Amino acid sequence: MRISRGRESGPSEQRGPTFTGRVWADPVLNAQDSVGVNNVFFEPGARTHWHRHEVAQVLHVISGEGWLQTRAGDGGPLTAGDTAHIPGGEEHWHGAAPDSYMAHLAISVGTNEWLDPVSDEDYAAAFRGR
Ligand code: MN
Repeated sequence: MRISRGRESGPSEQRGPTFTGRVWADPVLNAQDSVGVNNVFFEPGARTHWHRHEVAQVLHVISGEGWLQTRAGDGGPLTAGDTAHIPGGEEHWHGAAPDSYMAHLAISVGTNEWLDPVSDEDYAAAFRGR
C-alpha cells in the first residue's frame, strides 16, 4: 500500500494541446496500476478536447461550475459536490462554464484517447438555456 499526503511531489502541470484554454493539473496520486488521480483546474471557458478513457473515469467537482457532455448528446451541469462516472469508450468532454472556473478531482483508469477540439459552437450550445 501507499498513502499520498495531499499531493505528490512534482510540479503542477499546465495541460497543453488536448485542452482549450488554460488548464492546470496537480498530481494527487501519481499513476499506479493504470490509475491516475489529479486535481484539475479549468479557467472560465476552458475544456478538454473530445476524448475517451480506456477503462473509466470518475470526476468529483471541488468548486466552481462546469459541464460534462457526451458525443451521444447526454450532458449536464457540474457543480461543487457532484460526482460523475464515465464508462470506458464513451466520447465526452468536460470543462468550466464560460463565467466560472471549475476544479475537479479526476480519477482516470487506463489510457486516454484524445480526439478533436470542442468547437466554440458546441461549447456555447451546452450552456445555452442552462
Ligand atoms: Mn474525461
